[in-house]
Amino acid sequence: MKPRLATMWLGGCSGCHMSFLDLDEYLIDLFDKVDLVYGPLLDVKEFPDNVDVVLVEGAVANRDNLEMLHKARQRSKILISFGDCAVTGNVTSLRNLCGPLDDIYQGLSPLKDFDPILPPLLPQVHPLHHYVKVDYYLVGCPPDAERIRTVVEAVLEGREPQLTPRQRSFG
Ligand code: SF4
Repeated sequence: MKPRLATMWLGGCSGCHMSFLDLDEYLIDLFDKVDLVYGPLLDVKEFPDNVDVVLVEGAVANRDNLEMLHKARQRSKILISFGDCAVTGNVTSLRNLCGPLDDIYQGLSPLKDFDPILPPLLPQVHPLHHYVKVDYYLVGCPPDAERIRTVVEAVLEGREPQLTPRQRSFG
């Protein structure tokens, strides 16, 4: 049976997933070796059980993000913080500089009328490891495709990822 791979998009811009698509023809080799079972590239509504590896993009900014992250952690053997927003909070956590939630909601009040299903914000934006155990950190904004490949290949083969010095630099 092939390993089960998932990806998840929380409080991020989707740029990390765009970089995943930059794997180009390697995606064909990858999908020969794994079953992609969840993520924004698929129309699957519920995060499945028994996932081997999940790449989680974005920081935790609202209650939906937090619920999805806990689900991913409970149902996956290996969880990878995917990109700088997941690893440090990065761009998404700039919202923490905007003051208390009441002030933010004040500014968002026209939007609340427009979209009543807006998920409730958490008081602060945090990276993934604030809430759950993270197995690997894949840095970069976004991580480049070569770095994603190095980490994903190693993890799927049960090896520790060995990044080159160039891959260890940010970008
Ligand atoms: S790390 Fe960069 S590319 Fe990835 S979600 Fe955050 S802002 Fe977007």
